[in-house]
Amino acid sequence: IAVLFFDFDRFKAVNDSLGHDAGDELLISISQRLVANVRDVDTAARFGGDEFVILLEDLPDTDTAKLVADKLLKACAKSHDVRGHKLVSTASIGLVTNETSDGGPAELLRFADAAMYEAKRRGRNCVVEFDSEMFNEQLDKLALEEDLQSAAANGELSVVYQSILDLNNGNIVAAEALLRWHHPTRGPIPPDMFIPIAEESSQIVAVGGWAFEAACRQLTDWRRRGVVSEDFAISVNISKTQVLMPGFVEYVTSQVDRYKLTRSSIKLEVTETTVVDNRADVGDVLQKLRDQGIRVMMDDFGTGHSSLSGLHLLPIDELKIDRSFIRSASGNTDLIAITSSIVTLADHLSLKTIGEGIESPDHIALLQSMGCNYGQGFLFSRPLPPEEFEAMVLERQGPAKKTAELN
Ligand code: C2E
Ligand code: CA
Ligand code: CA
Repeated sequence: IAVLFFDFDRFKAVNDSLGHDAGDELLISISQRLVANVRDVDTAARFGGDEFVILLEDLPDTDTAKLVADKLLKACAKSHDVRGHKLVSTASIGLVTNETSDGGPAELLRFADAAMYEAKRRGRNCVVEFDSEMFNEQLDKLALEEDLQSAAANGELSVVYQSILDLNNGNIVAAEALLRWHHPTRGPIPPDMFIPIAEESSQIVAVGGWAFEAACRQLTDWRRRGVVSEDFAISVNISKTQVLMPGFVEYVTSQVDRYKLTRSSIKLEVTETTVVDNRADVGDVLQKLRDQGIRVMMDDFGTGHSSLSGLHLLPIDELKIDRSFIRSASGNTDLIAITSSIVTLADHLSLKTIGEGIESPDHIALLQSMGCNYGQGFLFSRPLPPEEFEAMVLERQGPAKKTAELN
């Protein structure tokens, strides 16, 4: 047997531009096309959204499965007639046979899904067969997923802090809290690797909550000991799953209050793709947090293709310009013009701007000339463990006034 996992491209664009009824018609046309290209013994199913799964049975060999997958790919690439439009929605197909996986239906689906992701990564409109390399990757991910469950209890997690400077006067005015995982046998695991695993397995609620509380505790401690001043803020990264967790607003405000912090001193960083998510509830939650005095920052701005014309409608207070802009801006006049317009527009909308990934004095000069408010990057400091961050702040700025009410 073989399992084929399909994901169709540009489906969201059809929904957004022609409406959901047209999207439904496209789905029906796709299903008809799939059914027309398999035998009666095979099973075709819609798995959810624009994902379809086909189970091929009684196959003579693996090559036949590949031939069928290629045939389906070609059939899917032909346009669909929907409401007078010729719509093209090519497929990314993941293929797995029971020769590679004998772990039962759930495992077959999981592997086919993984192969489909690889097909998307390779540029879509192709078939990718699940192989031993992907198998090892999956095993590795599963092992990390399991280890992550006990990481907090075993003291393997920590938070490092990277300074954020006011570009007008060079003062350190805030820090971004960044999570670190030191695995007992594998050493440091980069967040770009374990955060997605935590997100897929919903552990991000626990792990992200751990980071959030560690940051609150740290800020209280620094303020009580006069390391930072009253208006110093820490920003914490928050994943979409956390934002959509029931009671998230109450969770955030109760933690901030519990540590006797002012609401404005803990900021939430949510990525552009989370903020512009079509689901209205993300926006609602962020707005409620703002109503409670928590500041919301849009992270990695410029990577999620949100429209500038809709910027004034988003429930945000600050805009973090992605480091890809800063990195390639020097010397590239088009990018300079775009970045500069973003800063100007943000300023008109009373949004503060932060430039990420400042690695050279050129970058500072550029951002300053545009009127960008804050900057962050390796040039100022790497993300540092709390003791080192503290030493750096004290050395540069001297002790702050201790906060009386926290004593
Ligand atoms: P991010 O939110 O965009 O965080 C900034 C990343 O840029 C950090 O990587 C930081 O070390 C890096 N960076 C800072 N300055 C520079 C620079 O000048 N040049 C370059 N090349 N890089 C710079 P890091 O710490 O590896 O974190 C990676 C990502 O992991 C973060 O990207 C964030 O999306 C995620 N992450 C980290 N901690 C958490 C957390 O507690 N919760 C959630 N949900 N995500 C987290
Ligand atoms: Ca961030
Ligand atoms: Ca970022």
